[in-house]
Amino acid sequence: MKYFVLFIFIIALSSKYLGQLCPIIPHPTTYVTTGGSMVLENLISVNKANLPTFGEDFIKLFFANEIGLNVAFINEGGQVKFKQLSNAYPDSYSIDVKENIVISYSSPASCFYALQSLKQLIQTESNSIEIPFCFISDEPKFVWRGMHLDVSRHFFSVSEVKQYLDWMARYKFNSFHWHLTDDQGWRIEIKAYPKLTEIGSIREKTLVGHASSKPEIYQGPAEKGFYTQEEIKEVVEYANKLFITVVPEIEMPGHARAALAAYPEFSCTGVQMPVAQTWGVFDEIFCSKDETIQFLQSILSEVVPLFPGKYIHIGGDEAPKTNWKKCQNCQAQMKKNGLKSEEELQSYFIQKMDKYLTSKGKTLIGWDEILEGGLSDNAAVMSWRGTEGGIEAAKQHHYVVMSPGSHCYFDHYQSDRKTEPLAIGGYTSLEKVYSFNPIPEGLPSSLDPFILGGQANLWTEYIADWKQVEYMIFPRMIALSEALWTAGERDYTHFLERLEKYELPYLKSKNVNYSKAIYYLKSEVVSESNGIEIDFEAIDSSSIITVDYDKSADVTQRKNGKFRIFKTKRPNMLRFVAKSKTAQGIDTLKLDILQHRTLGQPWIIETPLSSSYPGKGGLTLSDGTLGARPWNGKEWLGFNVKEVKMSIELNEKQKLDGIYLSFLSAESSWIHLPEKVLIEYSNNGESWKTKEFRVTKELNHYVLNKKAKFIRLTVVNKDSIEDGKPGSGHLPWLFMDEIWMD
Ligand SMILES: [Zn+2]
Repeated sequence: MKYFVLFIFIIALSSKYLGQLCPIIPHPTTYVTTGGSMVLENLISVNKANLPTFGEDFIKLFFANEIGLNVAFINEGGQVKFKQLSNAYPDSYSIDVKENIVISYSSPASCFYALQSLKQLIQTESNSIEIPFCFISDEPKFVWRGMHLDVSRHFFSVSEVKQYLDWMARYKFNSFHWHLTDDQGWRIEIKAYPKLTEIGSIREKTLVGHASSKPEIYQGPAEKGFYTQEEIKEVVEYANKLFITVVPEIEMPGHARAALAAYPEFSCTGVQMPVAQTWGVFDEIFCSKDETIQFLQSILSEVVPLFPGKYIHIGGDEAPKTNWKKCQNCQAQMKKNGLKSEEELQSYFIQKMDKYLTSKGKTLIGWDEILEGGLSDNAAVMSWRGTEGGIEAAKQHHYVVMSPGSHCYFDHYQSDRKTEPLAIGGYTSLEKVYSFNPIPEGLPSSLDPFILGGQANLWTEYIADWKQVEYMIFPRMIALSEALWTAGERDYTHFLERLEKYELPYLKSKNVNYSKAIYYLKSEVVSESNGIEIDFEAIDSSSIITVDYDKSADVTQRKNGKFRIFKTKRPNMLRFVAKSKTAQGIDTLKLDILQHRTLGQPWIIETPLSSSYPGKGGLTLSDGTLGARPWNGKEWLGFNVKEVKMSIELNEKQKLDGIYLSFLSAESSWIHLPEKVLIEYSNNGESWKTKEFRVTKELNHYVLNKKAKFIRLTVVNKDSIEDGKPGSGHLPWLFMDEIWMD
C-alpha cells in the first residue's frame, strides 16, 4: 500500500516514463512508475552486502555483457543494493528504483529473474542510459516453464543450444526439454554402446517435402551429429548458470529406429534397418524382452549422472504394438508377468524404467501415452494429445506438465498464409499461444497443485536450420512466457503493444528471424442474410487497404475494407486481393471465396464440436473458404467421434445435381478420410431418401440429380487408425471444410 501512496504523491511529477507501458516481458505482478528516471553513467556502483550466491563475478559480467555498464563494488552506499527476503513467495523478487536501485530476492533464482527484469527496464538511448523510477514486485505463476527442442530430426550445435538457453533465460523459462533420441537420429554419446552414435547419429538421406506428398523423394547430404558427454556437461552447466534445469529425453519403447539401426538385436525381429529417413511412426520399436530392458537401463545409467535435475523423460509415446503382438519374446514376457494386453506390457516396461530411475533418485516423466495400461507409481505426465491425459493423471495424483498440441506446438503454422515455409501442419497463432492456460477446464480446483506448468514443443522434422528455429519460436515463446509466468488477468492487445514497442525491436537488433505474422492482413468471415460479409483487417487500422476483385460479381462493397458477398445458384470462385501498407512494408492477401447456394448459411451440427478444432461451428462448412493443405488454418472443423451428423434447409425445393464434400487426409497428424457418407434428402422434412457413398479421396462430388429442400448428412468415421500409421489403434480425427451443391 505504501507504494501506492508514493505513486499518488509523485504522479504530479509527470515525465516521459509516467504511465509508460511496462518494458518487462513476461509482465510482472506489480509495476508502478512513479515519474522521472535515474540517469546512469557507464560505471555503476554496487553495494557488496547481501550479494546472491552467484557472486560478484557473475554480476560484473552480467552488467558488462547484458547491459553495457561497468561495475564497481563498494562497502558503503552504492547505486545498486541487494536485500534478502525471508518468508517470501518462492522465487519472488522486487525492484525499487528511487534514490537508488534496491533488488530484494527470495532465492538465487529470483535474484537472477530480477536482473533479467532490470535489463529490460534500462533504456539506452543515443546519449543516455536511464532507468525509470518504479516499483516492481513479481513472482512466477507456474514452477514448470518449459521449452523443448528436438535435436534428433535435425541436429543443432552446442553453441546453438546455448543460444536457445539464453533466450529462455531472458523470458524466465526454467526447464529445457532436450529431445536427444528418435527414429531419425541418436544424439548422445553412450560409452557402453558406441554404435549408438557411430551408426545411430547418421541419417544418410532425408525425405524431401512433406511426409504426405507423393511420390516420396529422398536426398542427401547425410544429417549427422551428436553431443559427447563432455559437451552435454558443458550445456548442463551453462543452463545451470541461467537457472534452467535440463530434462533429457531418451525415447522408448517407440521412436527407436536410430538405436535399433545400431543394435538390431534389441528389436523384436532382429532385422537391421537404416536410421529412419522419413517422418512418422514406425512399427520397429524396442522389444520388451529382459535383454532390452537391461540395455536401456544401462544407457540410463550413463544419462542419469550427466543431468542433475530431478526428471528424466523416457518418451513413451506413439509405440505401435504390431511387432509386440507377433513377437515370441514379448508374448512370453506377457505370460510370465500375467499381463493381459500389449498396453499392459508397455505399462510393465515403463514401470521397470520408473523403478530403475527412482532407485537412482530421479523421477520418470513421459508423454501421456504412459497412462495406458496403468501409470507407474512415481511417474509424472506430459500431456500433449489435448489436456485429457493431464486431467486423468492429476486425478490419480501425479504431477503434470501441460503441452497440448492446440496451444503449445511451435512446429505448427503461425499464420494461415499459403506462403509460410513448409511445416508439419496445424495452426497455432500468437493469440492462441497467449490464451494458453495450463490449468485445464474441468479440473477440480483441489487438483490444481498437480499441474506444474506448461511447455512448448519444437519438433524439427521441417526445421532444418537455425534461422527456421528462430522463425518458429519467435514471437510465440514470448507469448508463452507470459502465459506461464504472469499471474492475474492478461490482455492480448496490451501484450501486442508491449511486444511491438520493446521486444520486436530487441529481436530485430539481434538479427533474429522472427515471424511477422502479426502484421499480416487478416480476413474475417461472418454470416449475413443471403451470404457472407468479409472484413479485411490489419494490426494498424490506419494502414492503407486497397481491395481488388471482379467488379461484375455479386458483391457489394461496404466501407472500411468490408464486403458483402451473395449466394449464387451455380458455384463461382471469386478472388480478392487486399493490400495494406505499414512500416513493415506492403502486405498482400489473396483470398478465394467460393460463392454457392448455401453460402453464409451455417449447417446445423448435431454432433458436439471438439474443444480443440471447433472452427466457426456450422459456418465453417459454408463460409466460402476452403481449407489449406498442408492444413494450416482456422477454416477446418475437426471431430474425434465415430459419426458426425448435420443438416441444412434450403429456401425452397431446388434441383440439385450433386453435393461436394471436402475432407482432409493428414495421417501424420492422425487425420484420416472418413469411411463413408450418408446423404439423406427430402422435399417436406418427413419422407426421406438416402444415398450412401464410400469416401476414397479428399474432394468428392456425389451425384444426386434430385429435387430437395432438406438435406441431412451423416459422416461415418473409421473405427481406428490402421497398424503402422501414427496413432494406430486410436479413433482418427475427421476434418471437414466446405460443403456446396451444384
Ligand atoms: Zn519383442
